[in-house]
Amino acid sequence: MNKNRSMEKKCRKLECDVLIAGGGIAGVMAAAAASRCGAKTILLEAAPFLGGVVTMGPLEALMTPEDSEKTVIAGMAQEFLAFLKSLDEKAVPTPDTTGYCASIVPYDAEIMKYALAEFLYQYQVKVLMQTMLEEVKTEDGVITSVVVFTKTGRMEIACKAVVDATGSGYAAYLGGNDIMSGDEDGRNQPVTALGRIGNVDISMLKKYVEEHPEEFKTFQDGIDLSTEFLHLWGFRGTLKEGYEAGKLRLLRNEIHVMQTTRLGEVVINYSRINADPWKEEELSKSQILCMRQLNELLAWFKETIPAFQNAYMVQTGYVGIRESGRIKGRYIMTKKDIISARQGDTDVGMGAFPIDIHKPDNGMECERILAGYHIPWECLMSEALENCFAAGRCVSSDFEANASLRISMTCMSTGHAAGVMAAVYALNKGNFKYERIAQLLEEQGAIL
Ligand SMILES: Cc1cc2nc3c(=O)[nH]c(=O)nc-3n(C[C@H](O)[C@H](O)[C@H](O)COP(=O)(O)OP(=O)(O)OC[C@H]3O[C@@H](n4cnc5c(N)ncnc54)[C@H](O)[C@@H]3O)c2cc1C
Repeated sequence: MNKNRSMEKKCRKLECDVLIAGGGIAGVMAAAAASRCGAKTILLEAAPFLGGVVTMGPLEALMTPEDSEKTVIAGMAQEFLAFLKSLDEKAVPTPDTTGYCASIVPYDAEIMKYALAEFLYQYQVKVLMQTMLEEVKTEDGVITSVVVFTKTGRMEIACKAVVDATGSGYAAYLGGNDIMSGDEDGRNQPVTALGRIGNVDISMLKKYVEEHPEEFKTFQDGIDLSTEFLHLWGFRGTLKEGYEAGKLRLLRNEIHVMQTTRLGEVVINYSRINADPWKEEELSKSQILCMRQLNELLAWFKETIPAFQNAYMVQTGYVGIRESGRIKGRYIMTKKDIISARQGDTDVGMGAFPIDIHKPDNGMECERILAGYHIPWECLMSEALENCFAAGRCVSSDFEANASLRISMTCMSTGHAAGVMAAVYALNKGNFKYERIAQLLEEQGAIL
């Protein structure tokens, strides 16, 4: 037996047309789209699972495919939702009982985890899990390859185009592109781990809402308790009492509770820590503190709300980053673009979620969007790198616009567009024209 074993020293080599960095919901859509366009596609993801915040968060629900009048997100997102429905039949758009947005898609995070992986398998994308992007090599403003770190050593992957779906713009940043982060004072939104709670008595929960309407916020005429999937925003009095009784160390005025498609299960959005998303030490400490906050909340709910009496924690998620690096692109989407339902000549997708800013203190700043806005392709093009396209949370936007663009279904829309753009660039650089991108996106069902 060889006693002098060591990691492979030689850097292994791979090659592809399109390299997708990051396997969150945006990266998965981008990978499927690039592959559908005929590009040999590799997706790398640091975690052992796909989905990012959507599976490891885990989210309350996917928001939002519609504005107040029409569907705004279709294409690859719709194709994926149809596939998800074949595994989780109740994962379909349903009215948002808070009225905050037109509709939302509840789901089971465990089924989602499998669905995303299976979807890419069917699209024949080569997926490298537990693989961390480490270095980006460029020549004259063009990415030529990336170097990744794995448990067994390094690999260099030569590529013709890159989609940066890392949430933070790491690929663009490593390639020399500028990154924007935080509000005008450089402060980022707080981080949060969500909790999945099982064995909640939903009919008792509805009774609680009926008996305590003052606890809950809604943007419409009351909460429709006949609906199958409740989305609640509030629990104001219960939270205040818990804080005053010393049972909750975190004071939040309101929280979100959303039913998943699993019987008797809800996702709770309560924990909150002001942490620097660029510092691993702070994020690691936040993970512990968020789990503590969630466990305290569950204990308090079990004590005070009959619907939670027999509830238990199914999963505390990983600490989710709302906003960190935004890639500086050839156009920076602004708050004005969002609230004025902007439309232009080079649009590649849409969004309709409110501007939703969790303040570093206890508050929230919300601005509802009734008419969807259109996203131009320049927003997905990095300023300094010809073949690097942004998808998801890290698209080129100011702090406030990002607070709408970051929502999962809008990330699916920009993911789809970035995947098509990268494929067209990689396969046919000479024909990298907006008309060609728009034609392909429309053929694939996207709403531009
Ligand atoms: C607490 C919280 C609650 C939210 N609630 C909702 C909600 O209820 N509904 C909703 O629709 N949206 C919600 N959102 C927003 C939305 O879920 C996310 O913004 C969206 O899912 C982001 O998708 P993404 O693919 O851009 O990024 P991410 O999900 O962050 O995925 C990025 C992926 O890239 C990987 N990665 C990063 N760096 C590297 C690297 N160097 N090498 C390899 N891989 C890397 C990460 O591991 C990750 O998997 C919430 C967000 C948070 C944080």
